[in-house]
Amino acid sequence: MVSRVIPVETFDLVIFGGTGDLARRKILPGLFRRFRAGQMPPGSRIIGAARSEMDDDGYRQMIREAIAEFGGEEKKDSDGIESFVAQLRYVAIDATGEGGWAQLSKLMRGDVVRAFYFSVAPSLFGALAERLHAHGIADSESRIVVEKPFGRDLATARALNATLAEHFDEQQIYRIDHYLGKETVQNLMAVRFGNVLFEPLWNSHYIDHIQITVAETVGVTGRGAYYDKSGAMRDMVQNHLMQLLCLIAMEPPSTYDADTVRDEKLKVIRALQPVEPHHIVRGQYDASAQGPSYREDAENPRSFTESFLAMKCHIANWRWATVPFYLRTGKRLKARSSEIAVVFKDLGHTIFEGDTARHRNILSIRLQPNEGMDLQVTIKEPGPGGMRLVDVPLDMSFAEALGPDQEAPDAYERLIMDVIRGNQTLFMRGDEVEAAWAWTDPIIEGWEARNDVPKLYDAGSAGPEDAMMLLHREGRRWRDIKG
Ligand code: NAD
Repeated sequence: MVSRVIPVETFDLVIFGGTGDLARRKILPGLFRRFRAGQMPPGSRIIGAARSEMDDDGYRQMIREAIAEFGGEEKKDSDGIESFVAQLRYVAIDATGEGGWAQLSKLMRGDVVRAFYFSVAPSLFGALAERLHAHGIADSESRIVVEKPFGRDLATARALNATLAEHFDEQQIYRIDHYLGKETVQNLMAVRFGNVLFEPLWNSHYIDHIQITVAETVGVTGRGAYYDKSGAMRDMVQNHLMQLLCLIAMEPPSTYDADTVRDEKLKVIRALQPVEPHHIVRGQYDASAQGPSYREDAENPRSFTESFLAMKCHIANWRWATVPFYLRTGKRLKARSSEIAVVFKDLGHTIFEGDTARHRNILSIRLQPNEGMDLQVTIKEPGPGGMRLVDVPLDMSFAEALGPDQEAPDAYERLIMDVIRGNQTLFMRGDEVEAAWAWTDPIIEGWEARNDVPKLYDAGSAGPEDAMMLLHREGRRWRDIKG
């Protein structure tokens, strides 16, 4: 097997919000793993920029502690940690004022890739973009990385895009959706477009329906105030589930070039039909032995925000007409499990007399846990006694097939390296984000206009009973949520 890693140029990566939760939990431990994998060229630097007053050594200590708390096996590599933190710098900066900007400007070098990660509240994006320019810190080659949430509706997303566009070209803007950085998500494209087996079947002639599930066991404790203003639609569906749906449903792009892929994804979003209210089930988790209710967690006793959503969507084009896409996501469910299941149609005719069971091929793409795929196929049950059929998985566990050394980089670290390489394929383009909101907005407005009350569901369950019915009444079943 030949492993080819596209090299990365020397860089200065400034992380605004470098002391925040996301930076400590994901970004810096991820960068440390890339450093250990030899992907951080010598001379590259990571510059934390945040509100707290601190010097370089203080920041290095903070990141040592972050790696100890949030790192995996690599946290035992104390020599590696020391070499890594030696590449860190810190500048105390005021995003909305003038403090720290001159110092940051002085620190930046001219001959390396410059990237700026906006790991701060979106309300600060405009101020940061403006100051980066005013101080001559960003040039036409610089890249900025922005985090979700990208707006809370079409109007705010447009405003945010317009603000960034005042100072940066679209080619410089990297909107993170970490689901796109997952190994399996990219494998989905490899499987679809790297094999002759699947693409001929990838349409309404052979596929009965598609299910996308992102189930979490956690509630909203600790982030209830944010979540309560958002809900599952804004927090998960408009971005993550929509991106997965696009990759499953898009037409084959002619190349793997960023804009060619994103053009195809955009066409899917634009072909999504408005969703009928009776094709949506909203839920809220109830109090249980496992913990308080959603309303208690969110500290809002009258909250109508959904912590669960199941819906049936249609894509109006030749490939997918008649194929329902069922989306489901929720908190405090029975297991932490994300999966895309492509459920193929029943056989039109069976030659095996006496075999009355329903056999279906199902391609299951697991995002977590145990990233991998399996294909359910029907074979003969071993032993004598005639032709009895049984469904078994043809398992493609990547770790097993490729060997233990092929540990996939975490989504964040892969995406950050793509920023440095200047590869936007796995980032959302501005028009995609706007199109996704344009589809989501009327649904949310409908709930608000009707004062829609989410159905209660038991923590540890698969969501409200009505979500089961969404499929049952059409003779289908949700896949089990398995950890
Ligand atoms: P946080 O509150 O933990 O950290 C915020 C950071 O911003 C701190 O470093 C703080 O010093 C800095 N900051 C705040 N005001 C500033 C100012 N005026 N000038 C300079 N720096 C300032 O937030 P977080 O959880 O790290 O989230 C950061 C961003 O990432 C948010 O947009 C959030 O929505 C998004 N996000 C976070 C997560 C997560 O898991 N934490 C996941 C996805 C997206």
